[in-house]
Amino acid sequence: MQRFEGFWKSKRTNVIECFDCQRKQEVSGAATSTICPSCSAHIDLSDYKITTSFSRSIRTKGEVHVTTKGDLSSSSVRCRRALIEGRLRGNLDCAGTIVINTSGKILGRLSASEIVVEKRCEVQFFRRVRVSNIEIRGRMSGEVVADGMVTIRKNGVLEGNVTAKAINVEKGGTFSGQVVVGRRALQQTELLPNESPTVSEPPEGSINLARPLPAT
Ligand SMILES: [Zn+2]
Repeated sequence: MQRFEGFWKSKRTNVIECFDCQRKQEVSGAATSTICPSCSAHIDLSDYKITTSFSRSIRTKGEVHVTTKGDLSSSSVRCRRALIEGRLRGNLDCAGTIVINTSGKILGRLSASEIVVEKRCEVQFFRRVRVSNIEIRGRMSGEVVADGMVTIRKNGVLEGNVTAKAINVEKGGTFSGQVVVGRRALQQTELLPNESPTVSEPPEGSINLARPLPAT
C-alpha cells in the first residue's frame, strides 16, 4: 500500500464531513489529515493504493484505488471515492463515486452516492447495493436499491431486482428482473431486513419482467 496521486484530478480544496459528528469543513487538496474543529477527531485524508493483499480497515476522506493485482478484504472501508480494478471482498462505503472496472464476484456490502460499472466488466454482487445513482455500462447481476436513477447504457446488462426512483434503459441496454419504482417503494424497502433478497410483494406501480427486456 502506498500513497498515490489522485486518479481523479484533485481539486485545490475539498469540503469533507467529520466521520463522527458530521461537521463539514474545507480542507486543502494536498492535506493528508486534519482535525475536526467541532469534536477534535482525527480525520484521515490520504489516498490508498492497494496493489497486493490488504485486510486492515480504512477510514479516509481520500480515495481508495484497488489495482488489478490488489485484493482488498478489509471488513470496513470508508472513503470519499474508489476505483476498483482488482478484488474487493469486504464492505465499501463511499461518500462519492465507486468506479468498478473489474470482473468477478463482489461479496461485500457496497454503498455509495454513485456507482459506475464500466464497459467490458462483468460483476456479480452478492449483497444488496445501495446508491443514489448507478450507471451500468458493462454487465452486472445483483439487487439494487437506488434513491435516484438506475441507468443502463448501450450494451449494458443488469440482471436483478431494482427498487429505484427511476430506471432508464437506453437503446441497446438490457434489464432483466423485477423493478419497483417510486418513493413509496423505497420507503417500504427501508423497512425490510437488509439481507432480504427480493421484494416479495411489490406495491402497485411495479412491473414484473419475467424475460429480459431489451430497450426500445
Ligand atoms: Zn467531528
